[in-house]
Amino acid sequence: MSNIKKEIPYKIYLEESEMPKEWYNVRADMKNKPAPLLNPKTYQPMTEAELGQIFCEELVKQELDTTTPFIEIPEEIRNFYKMYRPSPLVRAYCLEEKLQTPAKIYYKFEGNNTSGSHKLNSAIAQAYYAKEQGLKGVTTETGAGQWGTALSMACAYLGLDCQVYMVKCSYEQKPFRREVMRTYGAAVTPSPSDTTEVGRKILREHPGTSGSLGCAISEAVERAVQQEGYRYVLGSVLNQVLLHQTVIGLETKTALEKYDIQPDIIIGCAGGGSNLGGLISPFVGEKLRGEKDYQIIAVEPASCPSLTRGKFAYDFCDTGMVTPLQKMYTLGNNFIPSANHAGGLRYHGMSSILSQLYHDGLMEARAVEQTSVFEAAEQFARIEGILPAPESAHAIRVALDEAIRCKETGEEKTIVFGLTGTGYFDMYAYEKFNNGQMTDYIPTEKDLEQGFAGIPRFPGNEF
Ligand SMILES: *Cc1c(COP(=O)(O)O)cnc(C)c1O
Repeated sequence: MSNIKKEIPYKIYLEESEMPKEWYNVRADMKNKPAPLLNPKTYQPMTEAELGQIFCEELVKQELDTTTPFIEIPEEIRNFYKMYRPSPLVRAYCLEEKLQTPAKIYYKFEGNNTSGSHKLNSAIAQAYYAKEQGLKGVTTETGAGQWGTALSMACAYLGLDCQVYMVKCSYEQKPFRREVMRTYGAAVTPSPSDTTEVGRKILREHPGTSGSLGCAISEAVERAVQQEGYRYVLGSVLNQVLLHQTVIGLETKTALEKYDIQPDIIIGCAGGGSNLGGLISPFVGEKLRGEKDYQIIAVEPASCPSLTRGKFAYDFCDTGMVTPLQKMYTLGNNFIPSANHAGGLRYHGMSSILSQLYHDGLMEARAVEQTSVFEAAEQFARIEGILPAPESAHAIRVALDEAIRCKETGEEKTIVFGLTGTGYFDMYAYEKFNNGQMTDYIPTEKDLEQGFAGIPRFPGNEF
């Protein structure tokens, strides 16, 4: 090795030939495996056959595989990835300069595709396996709209039908997101809707509700099960999604190694946990194998604080209680964040892999308030140029906090964070912020108790 230090560019781009050919399954290196999905009627682990009624066969295999460390990325998916990957690892020189911090800041930017987020990494994989199985189409939910857009793009590419249940408030607030999906050929229905039994029930019980992700999931699952040749796909939370998203972390690691960069702190926002899980997996693997150590920080909204204030218990992944039970940090399947919450990451639960890692002390979590998140977003946009998605700005908030702390202590830490996407469709939230109308709401203990009351009670599920 030469000891001439390579100058680190603003953007580290890998060659296409350096892109990962396998996803990394961090469960293989976990001593405490995430708990299995349970059948909500029998409380027994879900079998491959049971899961196969909801999900595609190959994805069920990935969901249940806790031992294979590397899983090959099929060539067709790798070729699709090349339309928008490798994504750059950016050295935030401008930000460092502005903050006058000795910290070195890097971010992995996943917003360089039309869906505007990392979600396309899993959308193409899930659509590919559906196609391989000879299915006609897939159903799904979307909250802020990034996942629905990503899946529409993947389905258009492969010629699959795509039916999206979009949380009603987003459907109304983000008409352009909806039109992007329709342009890619998806059918978009606001949720809750009268097209499903569970939707009609929710509408009866909560007339005028603006919907939630948990509720849209129930509708999408019901539609998948009802139609011949359809399966349900989910954009986050599941093990398979986290697996696909490891393309983010693997590229990041290769890019860092090219320039002999050692990260100290790795930060990501956490909604259902897929981008964070994907970013940190290869690094957590090293931690688990005792090779290296990193400080890893999950950032969540103070208004939807599943890791920092939730219970580690089995809960439904949806409001209508039609999904299997997953052991995770949860606020309760009927938890709905306060209506003033504008910044995404509204899901009540968390990936069971991340939940287990957090439970075992391999990762920290912080909850941040949305006005401070939008302040960070504004600062980042003005200095680094990219208009971040509000979700991504949660990670920016903590990256800024850490960089400022380094300034105070004089430490030259290397910080890497995931910049998951762009915020062009979040202008309603930015408008509120710009008008000074954005407020914070932190749920009270009493608010949280209501959510916890909805977590199913059964022997072995004490919390
Ligand atoms: C969906 C989304 C997230 C949160 O989902 P995770 O599964 O937690 O990664 C974060 N950022 C953006 C831009 C998103 O679209």
